[in-house]
Amino acid sequence: MTKKSVDSLISARWVVPVIPENTVLENHCLAIDQGNIIDLFPENELDSRGYQTANHERLDNHVLIPGLINCHGHAAMALLRGYADDLALQDWLDNHIWPAEGKWVGEQFVYDGTSLAIAEMLKSGTTCFSDMYFFPDQTARAAQKAQMRCQLTFPIFNFPSAYGEGPLDYIHKGLAIRDDYKNQQLVNVIFGPHAPYTVSDEAFEKIAMYANELDVGIHIHLHETAHEVAESIEQYGKRPIERLNALGILTSRTQCVHMANLNQQDIDIVNNAGSHVIHCPESNMKLASGFCPVHELQEQGINVAIGTDSAASNNDLDMFCEMKIAALLGKVVSGNPSAVNAHNSLRMATINGARALGLEDTIGSLESGKAADLCAINMGAVEAQPLYSPVSTLVYTNSGNRVEQVWVNGKMLVKDGELTTLNIEEIYQKALEWGQKIAGQVP
Ligand SMILES: [Zn+2]
Repeated sequence: MTKKSVDSLISARWVVPVIPENTVLENHCLAIDQGNIIDLFPENELDSRGYQTANHERLDNHVLIPGLINCHGHAAMALLRGYADDLALQDWLDNHIWPAEGKWVGEQFVYDGTSLAIAEMLKSGTTCFSDMYFFPDQTARAAQKAQMRCQLTFPIFNFPSAYGEGPLDYIHKGLAIRDDYKNQQLVNVIFGPHAPYTVSDEAFEKIAMYANELDVGIHIHLHETAHEVAESIEQYGKRPIERLNALGILTSRTQCVHMANLNQQDIDIVNNAGSHVIHCPESNMKLASGFCPVHELQEQGINVAIGTDSAASNNDLDMFCEMKIAALLGKVVSGNPSAVNAHNSLRMATINGARALGLEDTIGSLESGKAADLCAINMGAVEAQPLYSPVSTLVYTNSGNRVEQVWVNGKMLVKDGELTTLNIEEIYQKALEWGQKIAGQVP
């Protein structure tokens, strides 16, 4: 028979392809060529399939899943991890985070902070992250160095910052970055108006017009707190979702982050618009912002994905933790222990994230034709025994620490738990130096 040469083969004890749903394959093999998955088949068909490679990875005690997709964060804020904890959102932002950012945020802060976040995300199985922060060109630079996939949502505020003068300046800078990266396979650039309370009607109208003309997504914090909703009613006579819908912001390309404090009318508007919901359960719980009714949204057919938010309000970027909390919170909120089960949580962190980001043809599941963005978790640890259900064990038992291999576009970025494209010592040292500076221990 004719032999077909491929870049690599990966055999794993278990493979969870995510599509088809609720499936766990045993002793299967993935064939990868030119960054893409070209076949998934039972190990005992290895000879008959005729693939040939110099690079056959055998993961005898591992489960192989699609790389996790962290749909919301502010990566550079990893440098503010633990800087201000145990506070309500407005106090936390107004009196702690925004003053610290005003003092410290610049190009180097963003590059170093993002590199720190990327190291943590890759080592815990995340292969694609969405980011909203100042100097997104630096975020892109750090992601490109790591060869990690990302969605950059360039920030837009009414007020000036070290990065921009006002809404138009933010938009022009963001669109220029979009042009710079339009041919880069791993970087996608979309609009990131910060929130209803930090962006004017006039700016929203411009964003809606550009997004429509250019067919580009919009990513926004929305209905995070009850305070945000009350303030909007007072100022505009409308709830934030109602206001944004009237301004043309809510479409099938829109990613609504948080979505707590919802009523039925809010849910209907988002459902009719076909917008996506990004659930950030740990951040919502930590800031006591409220909860996103995931089960209810899913029952109505709304796509829900997961994000960690920044390390300043989480305080880690481990998507396995986030999956577990999403599952647990979904049960508490709905009063139903069957709601948001382990498979559902894994879908939220993979294929649903891909759909939200408009990348469902590229990532989010292990199917032929998709990019080889993968994560292998060692299930041999004592705390994972006995193993009745690989997906339950993945979601409910702190698996981020057991990630051993991670690939993006077929390239191995984590090998035996170590980063292959980044210098961890250098990243660690930079984080240490920033921490000392920000804490005021060095001038
Ligand atoms: Zn956020």
